[in-house]
Amino acid sequence: MAACWARIRARLRDEVGEVEYRSWLRQMTLAGIEGDEAVILLPTRFLRDWVNSHYGDRLRALWQGEDVMVRRVDIRVAQPAMAGGPEAPPDFALAEPGGMQGLAESLAPSPSLRMPERPAAEPRSDWVVPLEARFTFDTFVVGKPNEFAHACARRVAERPASPGFNPLFLYGGVGLGKTHLMHAVAWAIRELQPARTVAYMSAEKFMYRFIAALRSQNTMEFKETLRAVDVLMIDDLQFLIGKDNTQEEFFHTFNALVDQGKQIVVSADKSPSDLSGIEDRLRTRLGCGMVADIHATTYELRISILQAKAAAARVEVPAKVLELLASRITGNVRELEGALNRLVAHAGLFGRPVTLDTAHEVLHDLLRAHERRVSIEEIQRKVAEHYNLRLTDMVSARRARNVARPRQVAMYLAKQLTQRSLPEIGRRFGNRDHTTVMHAVSRVAELMQQDAGFAEDVALLRKMLET
Ligand code: ADP
Ligand code: MG
Repeated sequence: MAACWARIRARLRDEVGEVEYRSWLRQMTLAGIEGDEAVILLPTRFLRDWVNSHYGDRLRALWQGEDVMVRRVDIRVAQPAMAGGPEAPPDFALAEPGGMQGLAESLAPSPSLRMPERPAAEPRSDWVVPLEARFTFDTFVVGKPNEFAHACARRVAERPASPGFNPLFLYGGVGLGKTHLMHAVAWAIRELQPARTVAYMSAEKFMYRFIAALRSQNTMEFKETLRAVDVLMIDDLQFLIGKDNTQEEFFHTFNALVDQGKQIVVSADKSPSDLSGIEDRLRTRLGCGMVADIHATTYELRISILQAKAAAARVEVPAKVLELLASRITGNVRELEGALNRLVAHAGLFGRPVTLDTAHEVLHDLLRAHERRVSIEEIQRKVAEHYNLRLTDMVSARRARNVARPRQVAMYLAKQLTQRSLPEIGRRFGNRDHTTVMHAVSRVAELMQQDAGFAEDVALLRKMLET
């Protein structure tokens, strides 16, 4: 029977791959065959349900291949008996409702009974939130704004808990790649050092689990489980702001792990010193390893990311379209990705290539929402360039027509393309009065009516500034 079971597990491992096997199936033990039923044990309800729904049929088929008498597989929640030693008592606290329940209830209330002695607790797999498959180092595009954070993450993945890098604190705005980097570290550790256990979860999840543990008087188990991991990653720590109990628990877990030489990786939207609402002692601890920020993307990085994502999707996207997206959707990478995905989906759906026209058509709402914010300085520079003037001519007192007219055009465009008030525009044009700006705006509008060539010129400038 043991040999059959070993073969079945080996088969499953081959079929699902190492990562999945380790996440979900490794903790299965065979309790025995009861009649036509193979009884398999898993330590938690969550794991049981998961394995049942994802691998139940496969397990049954594999059993039947080994032993035709087995017609069913029953997966139960229980700790395995300890190999070799005397029969371990069943773990009543973990047993599912059923035959033993009455007994379990009568025995359960005392916390010491609920937590039977176990050899250094294996972190339970249901603590390990599934990692996003595409969040790996391979798919992370490195540029100036994130190269430092990326290098730190790599370093931690290769040599967890090395001095100076523990904890690793990653911070930056929304959608800039914090979660991506954390998952990448987790994937890399799983691959490079499969013996290490990595627990990744959001701070929110940490809190919910802690609260649930408090409620069910199971905090011992909560603590033990977390303290048994080699690498603990907590994403979006800002969720713990103001949650004093949870912070306290996190602080103790944190200290226990660091003392044991385990690695901690934390992300947040702000640096430790700017995270108000975090206890000082925790803040100090958070800042004493490596703190790395991910800066807002640059145009170059946005272009590289778009190129990489288009290539991964195997869709040809013209450079002009990438430039449009990179110059207009500047907020975060998630939005950028969303826009590209929409284009790609649209192209696939209609079997048409991606062009600048389809991009404008498909993304018009997004592009409008990200109407480029042109600065007055940009306007002045473009206009000066266009009329072959120096930038200083835009703010000088010179009144010669060949300088004054372009200056008026620039004021007109500043009024049209920015949210600035007339007095503000005036100030930025060499401290001119708001009435001067008002005059310039109406004069240019008038000239555009009269002179088609001039109107075309202004329209062209406007278009250049807008895209
Ligand atoms: P955060 O956790 O900082 O809010 P995420 O890690 O969830 O951001 O990133 C948002 C999206 O942008 C993800 O789909 C991620 O893959 C992508 N992304 C962010 N930065 C990069 C990068 N440098 N290279 C490739 N994709 C990135
Ligand atoms: Mg995130």
